[in-house]
Amino acid sequence: MIKFESVVKKYPDGTVAVNGLDLVAPSGKITVFVGPSGCGKTTSLRMINRMIQPTSGTIWLDDQDTGKVDESTLRRGIGYVIQHAGLFPHRTIVDNIATVPLLLGWDKKRARARSLELMERVGLDTAFAKRYPAQLSGGQQQRVGVARALAADPPVMLMDEPFSAVDPVVRAELQDEFLRLQSELGKTIIFVTHDIDEAVKLGDQVAVLKVGGTLAQLASPGELLTD
Ligand code: ADP
Ligand code: ADP
Repeated sequence: MIKFESVVKKYPDGTVAVNGLDLVAPSGKITVFVGPSGCGKTTSLRMINRMIQPTSGTIWLDDQDTGKVDESTLRRGIGYVIQHAGLFPHRTIVDNIATVPLLLGWDKKRARARSLELMERVGLDTAFAKRYPAQLSGGQQQRVGVARALAADPPVMLMDEPFSAVDPVVRAELQDEFLRLQSELGKTIIFVTHDIDEAVKLGDQVAVLKVGGTLAQLASPGELLTD
């Protein structure tokens, strides 16, 4: 479970990005943060793994106050996927996916075996293992990004518009495969998007944010007021 309790983020220039956010993202479910550009989605997401420090309030990860956990311990349990995958250009696909296991001290053989297993899991041909990111399509790179985030099997995944940079057909494929994977893995996921259709398709629960960083609505996709 991830719980936001009265969370505020005010940037040094005075911008209030998140203004008193209270919500619970249940374990094993996909919670989508949706809303227009500038409503505080990315800020909220990055406060969970402390890439951004809240100005006030608390974010709980199960019974742990994330502000009191050592950052690298915290991040070990949190996979993170961004829009353009953020792969290391000079590392092969298999080595990109193995990044976190290698940081955690796994031996190379085990880390590579895990990478290959994940390539299959996310629907990537293992023949791409020795290629470099620039040799893959945008959709394939996003699959690598998802595989990398899953590599050390973190219970939590933070996903910031992971499928937004690809064309609609590939995007629909990525969404479908993501749902299939999640039905097997049951991660606690926070998924950021500005696309309401994507929110309805993927979310077990949808948090609608509005500019100024407040929660307009927290609903199941079926209950969502679309206006
Ligand atoms: P979203 O992800 O919903 O587009 P963000 O969380 O990126 O929203 O941004 C929320 C608000 O905070 C916006 O007004 C944005 O301009 C502002 N903001 C984001 N990052 C910074 C920063 N480093 N310094 C000042 N303002 C920022
Ligand atoms: P490098 O030291 O080679 O630059 P980084 O430490 O920047 O590698 O990590 C690369 C990527 O792996 C980051 O984008 C981050 O999302 C992810 N990452 C790094 N350390 C961890 C960790 N302990 N847990 C989860 N993800 C991590």
